Parts: sequence; structure tokens; C-alpha cells
Amino acid sequence: MQEQGSLSINSENLFPIIKKWLYSDQDIFIRELVSNAVDAIVKFRKMVSMGDAEASEDEQYAVHVTIDAEAETITVSDNGIGMTADEVRKYINQVAFSGAAEFLEKYKNATEDPIIGHFGLGFYSAFMVASQIQINTLSYQEGAEPVLWTSDGESGYEMTEGTRTSRGTDIILHVNEDGRKYLTTWELRTILQKYCAFMPVEIYLENPAEEAKNREEAAKNRKEGDPEPEAPVPKPINEIHPLWTRNANELKDEDYKAFYRDVFMDYREPLFWIHLNMDYPFRLKGILYFPKLGNEFESAEGQVKLYCNQVFVADNVKEVIPEFLLLLKGAIDCPDIPLNVSRSFLQNDGYVRKISDYITRKVADKLKSLYNGEREQYEKYWDDIHPFIKYGCLRNEKFYDRVKDCILYKSAVSDHFVTMSEYLEAAKETHENKVFYTTDPRRQAQYITALSHQQIDVVILPTTIDVPFISLIESKQEGVRFLRVDADLSQALKDSEITVDESLQSKAEALFREALGKEDLKVRLENLKDTGVSVLLEQSEESRRMHDMMRMYSGVGMNWGDMPADETLVVNAASPVVARLLAAESTDLSKKVVSELYDLARLSSRPFEASELGAFIARSQDLLQALLSD
Ligand code: ADP
Repeated sequence: MQEQGSLSINSENLFPIIKKWLYSDQDIFIRELVSNAVDAIVKFRKMVSMGDAEASEDEQYAVHVTIDAEAETITVSDNGIGMTADEVRKYINQVAFSGAAEFLEKYKNATEDPIIGHFGLGFYSAFMVASQIQINTLSYQEGAEPVLWTSDGESGYEMTEGTRTSRGTDIILHVNEDGRKYLTTWELRTILQKYCAFMPVEIYLENPAEEAKNREEAAKNRKEGDPEPEAPVPKPINEIHPLWTRNANELKDEDYKAFYRDVFMDYREPLFWIHLNMDYPFRLKGILYFPKLGNEFESAEGQVKLYCNQVFVADNVKEVIPEFLLLLKGAIDCPDIPLNVSRSFLQNDGYVRKISDYITRKVADKLKSLYNGEREQYEKYWDDIHPFIKYGCLRNEKFYDRVKDCILYKSAVSDHFVTMSEYLEAAKETHENKVFYTTDPRRQAQYITALSHQQIDVVILPTTIDVPFISLIESKQEGVRFLRVDADLSQALKDSEITVDESLQSKAEALFREALGKEDLKVRLENLKDTGVSVLLEQSEESRRMHDMMRMYSGVGMNWGDMPADETLVVNAASPVVARLLAAESTDLSKKVVSELYDLARLSSRPFEASELGAFIARSQDLLQALLSD
């Protein structure tokens, strides 16, 4: 046999485009070649199991990737079905190019990325790193002749008689300038481990020259009397039965943890995990882990790896895995996912949406079952998982509906967790539908004390995500209103029988306005009883939320001085200091005391600027001085 032909499509068109889309990730050539080799073996094994082909009992199915640095070749060999001459013509000479034509048609004007350039172009992607490729193949079919196909991918191909004597295929890449870097064991192993770590047939990486050299070295260093070294047992680079393909019943916690460590190189243990397994209406298997997120939600980023029949496709494919779930880590294998299409297609594909809904539901179910069955454990996880849950609720309504009863709030008073319905039930008598919260239990301790004196519970909502989350809950739960502890101090007085005298009220107002030189200051005299509080600043919830939002979006710490905050100075009529101030005439000293009180109130709401702190310290010393000189 001696045949030559021209490549049916103008390769001048083809390669710039392959390069444009795939250049950034030349590494994928190895995935394409190895997965073709794996497919060829899987197909053959299937035929044997169906009785359509014969193989010896102890057949060792494997893919060998061999580096020959001297010859500058990389060879991918398999003992799969092989190809006849006709099949090479059909699958390599024609089909690939019709795939290329389709690819060209679709992407000639495209600006977006095809998710993977997988238009039957897989084999041809190897021309990114090779100046010449040879296919040396022998079909399993009886009477088939071996075939050697050679092409530089540009000027045409040549077919002659091949040299293989056993069933299977060798793909020999004569690497080009770009491909040289793959001639080292380390480099090739790295990318094989990335793309092929879970392919279903054993894959071996070999570098005979290097191995011979190592053996020589070892022999040289061997001392007289040292035992003969044992030949190393070759180990495949992949795990052919990744955890997600196995039955959850036969797996132990330790298996899941080990898999997590191996795949994510994360030595902190995951909190818990979900083993996904779906057959109908689509096939999907996978494992999702909840990593320890901590409170630093902003910096947290997970990694969900997408596989297609154990072939790695990509990390964090937003179109398939809902965005909020990308905070998790794990592996998802969807054999049916249409990957040979663009991202925008995936976004609009109903099938992909179903996959995404399924995963979301499974995650919500897991949270619910933990909450219902192991609440104590669930509470322990809460600090790590709450940003994830809240973010999920904000991003996905269905998720919110599923987990809404499993959302916990930590009490700043009792240190225990409560749910919203537990909180509201307890609040029924005293502050119906109002939920008091603190963003900073230490700084706001005075307010918390004042409220807890009235048997009012306060929940802690300190993270950035809590700001939009509060609004979400208010929009979902009719009537419920979140109030920060400094938003409504009159609440602390609800049961109080003592009403504050009108004339005292105007006296207090005058006293503070004059001493502080703030004509517009809002002052309200209240009876906060013996809470240890003299004065506190109250801020309207609305205006403070506006501030918070602005701060969040502008990204910089807004100076509160820039915008007048809607605040009121609440003065506790029951405080002995206040009582004395109101009873006596105003003096220089009493004015200083008033200013001091005002600063103390401000300290509970925000940190001082340097100049304010200076003034505060100076005044405090004056007051101490006055105390001693009396
Ligand atoms: P795809 O794998 O997407 O079909 P490729 O260009 O990678 O596209 O391969 C084209 C075809 O060539 C394959 O579908 C297969 O029929 C055949 N082929 C490629 N590599 C091998 C191999 N190692 N053994 C047998 N057939 C192969």
C-alpha cells in the first residue's frame, strides 16, 4: 500500500484558529490523545465482553506514554481496537476535517471561548506541539493490515504499510519547538496527572533512556556487597476507579478524606461531603466537599472539577455548577454533558440547568438532614458554612426555599444558636417580629447589655454577607424587621413604668447641645434603668444600612464624618451621673463631664480618629486632675 492525499480542508485556515483557541492550553493535546487511546481500549473490552472479539484471559490493557528525548518524540500507545486503512481514511482524513469545517463555521467570527475545542479536532490538536505525526496501527479485525499514516498537518498525508504486529495504535509525535518542553518526565507527568488522573484504563509514563541512565548511576554508586536493587514496579499515573464511581455503601470516611487530600492537596479535613449519584434523566456522579471556609469568605474559593467519563474537562465550570457551589470542592462527572459547545450555549441549555438544579437540591438536602439529624454537629459547622449558605440563599431562590429553616443565628447573650422561628417565638411578648442583632459584640456590648436587661435576645451578624442577607430575610418573611442594637433603644424601655418628665427632657437637650456646641444634636432622655449605661448613640437602621452599603460598594472605609449620620443621643435618666448633671447648674467641669459622656457613647459605635482620641485622652486627664484636687 502506498497512498498520498491532500488534506481536504485548507489548513491555512484551520491552524490559526486551532491555535487561537487552544494555544493558551497546549497541554490538552495529551488529554486528547490519551483519551482516544483509552476509548479504543474501552471499546475493545466491550466487544470482548459481548463476544464480538477475542482476547487472552490475562490481557493487560494499558496506555503507555513514552518519551524519547533524543529522537524528540512522544508516543502514545494503546492495545485497543486499532484502525484499518479504511478507518484511518474515514476517521482521521475526513471526519476530523468535517469537524474542523463545522468548527470554523461556528467560530470564524466568534469572540467567546468554545468550552473545549472538541469538534473531532482532538487528534489534530497534537499539531500544536508536533511538526509531524505518525499513526502506526493494527485493527483487531481479522485479516486487517497494519497501517502507517504520516502527516505534517499542512501539506497532506501519506499512508504506507505499518509495523505493528499486535492489535492497537501508536501515535508518534515528532515535537516542534513548542513541544520540546514536554520531553521531560516531570512536565509530562504533571499534565497527565491534571487531565488523566482518573481515566478508566491504566496509563504508564515511560522514559527508557532516563530510566537506563538512573539504573547506571545506581549501579555505579553500589558498593561491594550491597544487595542487587530490585527492579522498580511500574505504577500507573492514574486511579482507574475514582471514588465517585464507587458505591457509597462500601466507602469509609477515611476514603473520602484521603481522596480530598490527594486531589486538592488540602491537609485540613473537609467538614463533610455529599456523594452524588444520578442515573435518570441524566447521568451524574460526583463528590462535593464542604471545606473549612472560616469567616474570611471573600478570600475563600473552592474548586469543583468537572469530568466527562473520568476525563478531566475543566475546573469551576460556572455553567454547569451553580456559582455559589463553587465555594465547595469536589469532582463532578457528567458523561452526557454537551461539552463541544460554547459557554453561552451551556448557559441557556435546559439540560445543563437540570444538572445544576439537581446538584443544588442535593446540597440543600444534605444540609437539612444534618440539621434535623445532627443539630449539635451542624452547629459546630455553622461558623464555617454560614457564608456559603447565605450566599447560596442570595443567589438561588430554590436553595433558599430548601434551607430556610436550617439557618442558624448565634446569640450574643446566651452564646447558643437559635433559628429564626425560635427567636420570633421567644420575642412574641416583648418585641414581636423585631430581630435585634449586633455586628460587633465587643464594641456594642453596652447596647447588648441594655437589651438583655429587658430579656431581649441579640443575634450576632458580623460578616459582609450579612448585610444583603438581612434584607433578603426581611423580604421573604413578612413583617420581620432586623434592628441593630443601636437602632432602637426605646425598645429597652418597653416595660418601663417610669416615664420621663417633659421638663427634664428639654433640660437634657439643652445641657448636651450647649456643652458639645452641637445645635442640631438630637437628644432623648430615656429610662434605661440600672444598666450601667449613661448615654448611648442611637442610629436609624435605614441610614446606617445606607452607610454600610456605600462602604461595601465603594470598597473603601467611608469616613462617617463625610455624611451626617441620622443619630440620636439617648441619655439614661436612671444613671446617677446623668441625674446629678441634670440636677445641678452647668459649670466648666460639668461641661467636660458631658463631653466625656458623649465620647464614651461614640466609642461604642465606632473607633476614634487620631485627633479625637488625642482630645479624649487630654480631657480624661483634666478630669482626673480635677478629681484629685477636690
Ligand atoms: P474524537 O475523539 O472527538 O472523535 P479525534 O480527532 O480525537 O476526535 O479522533 C477521531 C477518530 O479517530 C476517533 O473517533 C476514533 O474513531 C479514531 N481514533 C483516534 N485515535 C484512536 C486510537 N488510538 N485508536 C483507535 N481509534 C482512534
